[in-house]
Amino acid sequence: MQNLLHNLNDEQLAAVTLPAQSALILAGAGSGKTRVLTTRIAWLIQTGQVSPSGILAVTFTNKAAKEMLTRLSAMLPINTRGMWIGTFHGLCNRLLRTHHRDAALPQTFQILDSQDQLSAIKRLLKANNVDDEKFPPKEVMYFINGAKDQGLRADKIDPYNADERKKVELYQLYDDQCQREGVVDFAELLLRTYELLVRNQPLREHYQQRFQHILVDEFQDTNDLQYKWLKLMSGHGSQNGGALFAVGDDDQSIYAFRGANVGNMSAFEREYNVKNLIKLEQNYRSHGHILDAANVLIANNSKRLGKNLRTDAGHGEQVRVYEANSDLSEASWIIEETKNLIHDGASRSEIAVLYRSNAQSRVIEHALFSAGIPYHVYGGLRYFQRAEVKHAIAYLQLMDNPHNDSAFLRVVNFPARGIGVRSIETLQAAADQYGISLYAAVPYVTGKAGTSLAGFVKLIEGTRFETQQMALPELVRVVLEQSTLLSHYATEKEGADRIENLEQMVSAATQFVSEEGYGQGAPAHLGPQSQAASGMAVVNEDGFEILDADAPLATVMSPLSAFLSHASLEAGDNQATIGQEAVQMMTVHSAKGLEFNNVFITGLEEGLFPHESSSREHDGVEEERRLMYVAITRARQRLYLSFAQTRMLHGQTRYNMKSRFFDELPEDALKWLTPKVQPSWFGAKKSAWDEAPLVGSDKALAQKIASKAAEASSGWRLGQSVAHAKFGEGVIVNIEGSGNNARAQINFGAAGMKVLDLSIAKLERL
Ligand code: ATP
Ligand code: MG
Repeated sequence: MQNLLHNLNDEQLAAVTLPAQSALILAGAGSGKTRVLTTRIAWLIQTGQVSPSGILAVTFTNKAAKEMLTRLSAMLPINTRGMWIGTFHGLCNRLLRTHHRDAALPQTFQILDSQDQLSAIKRLLKANNVDDEKFPPKEVMYFINGAKDQGLRADKIDPYNADERKKVELYQLYDDQCQREGVVDFAELLLRTYELLVRNQPLREHYQQRFQHILVDEFQDTNDLQYKWLKLMSGHGSQNGGALFAVGDDDQSIYAFRGANVGNMSAFEREYNVKNLIKLEQNYRSHGHILDAANVLIANNSKRLGKNLRTDAGHGEQVRVYEANSDLSEASWIIEETKNLIHDGASRSEIAVLYRSNAQSRVIEHALFSAGIPYHVYGGLRYFQRAEVKHAIAYLQLMDNPHNDSAFLRVVNFPARGIGVRSIETLQAAADQYGISLYAAVPYVTGKAGTSLAGFVKLIEGTRFETQQMALPELVRVVLEQSTLLSHYATEKEGADRIENLEQMVSAATQFVSEEGYGQGAPAHLGPQSQAASGMAVVNEDGFEILDADAPLATVMSPLSAFLSHASLEAGDNQATIGQEAVQMMTVHSAKGLEFNNVFITGLEEGLFPHESSSREHDGVEEERRLMYVAITRARQRLYLSFAQTRMLHGQTRYNMKSRFFDELPEDALKWLTPKVQPSWFGAKKSAWDEAPLVGSDKALAQKIASKAAEASSGWRLGQSVAHAKFGEGVIVNIEGSGNNARAQINFGAAGMKVLDLSIAKLERL
């Protein structure tokens, strides 16, 4: 038997081997939280305190769950396949499939990812003649999800004005629509499971007794409903229930905008009367200067549970800071430094370029591409979110549940088969009249439209019949052909990539079947095997025997259903998967939990990072600071910070001040590669201004000289009054560059300060 405990420090050891009581492990980045959680599971099993089926472990991404399973199998000689380790969504999916009847869902219910959900809402608004300017679909979606994340159904919301009353009404209509179509969105997975367990006492008690140890990673990111769900599962306030072991870092709470409530940490401590609070303060990831930067920065937040990090790794190199004139020169600098790193032997996959928003990546991508450095961008569309893949998935969904209207609408006329908007409107009217799905309403449509629609139904029925006995990969292949998706893309000029993606789905299905333990030849459509196949059974409130969740996936979900759930859940993940030998580019959010030897944090400018939206939100800047803390703590050995004076974003040039975060970082840890001169907006408090005022005026002087030169060569002068077609009247306050590159900073009063390209902007002298 392996000694699981030998490579843990004292605090980690204490945490891993705590008695079976509720515990909170509060620890900073890179202190081994995830390692502790995984080792505790292994230790509990190895010492015979619990069987693998008594463990429920929750992570935030599918990738993290997978990694945990892999690590466990390396530590223990057990088969981890059936273990309840997954994301909230994944675990709820499994519970709902098992108890679909009690949850009032069809066994083949399908999961809407956020893209699907948005289209479902757009459809709903249209069907109900709702003005989508007054009620933008996205806003309605946020409203619905926000309510669900708090565990609220429409009938439990007390609207405070007419607009909200309308939204509540739409929420109810949306839920009805989903129920009719047999689909559930992400938030619904949780809420449904929660309600099921609240309502159904035998079921609830069964699970409370079963899961003796419930462990949660990244606990700071749980929302209200997730916490309630955990409380229910762990039998809080009842006789039953296991121990809840939560691991988290309040300083890394970065999902408030999605309803995460960091207050759950203190609520947990209080409500469970947690006696075991362990802090891990030894960091195993980053060198000293990097860690100092993180510690000093986060100390500026007022709402903290309080902890620090130390390292034995030595100071290491200072954090390098670069000020660029523009986003383009920032990108060139990143390329130069990247080349140096590679030259010195760094592996490309150990270089990460992080940014606050996806829109910032384009310029850097372009520069890397031009320099011939392989790179990989995460956070763009994931495989299961790409249009062609979603089309194929829609056909597969119709094989499983033809009453899924979203899937029906997505492909009824794709590839085009002459079914126009009018035919769909007629069909929709028939469906509304009889309260049935679009698919079921087809026979009620007559004329030419009816014929084309009947042709589509025939295609679906025919393919369903043909694939009846087929294994999943074969079924996928036949569906790709019969749907004519493959031949459709073959005629498209840029279709080769799409065909490749579609063909990849056959391999994805093959891999899925083997990973999930379905026999390679198991028919994709096969319904669940008899309930007797699973050893245990519980009795539900009506006295019926129901399947226990111990049942292997294969007994509760057909391979096709399971594959479709997998596709939706994957599409919802927000974390990068590292592996390629390429420079890794991603948003700070996607970098959560990952680590790299070399990290660039780019675009550190006011309005970008911290993001301008943060000033509008309560606690906004503190959340941005936590995000910066997450970014800094991804780095092991080298960290680079950069900002640009001007940046082209969303088609407009912005003139940026450097981020306030620079004023919050310790001087000693930083090495300025460019003179540290530009004051930041918020720098008055304790910036270098106080320490080195001369430098500032030197810079002002230098800027004045440069500006004078630019003035001479551009033909424009400072102080000149101008008029612009869109921004109105303004005054030139600064000019830089020359000839075709000359740009002027102009104060347009009410329209704000703009930087305009003098060779493009049509300015009129006043
Ligand atoms: P984050 O907050 O970013 O999620 P974390 O607290 O979960 O970080 P881990 O990812 O578990 O930290 O660990 C960070 C790194 O330190 C990993 O590479 C891990 O293998 C290593 N590590 C953790 N504990 C030890 C230890 N006792 N000895 C050596 N290395 C360790
Ligand atoms: Mg972790």
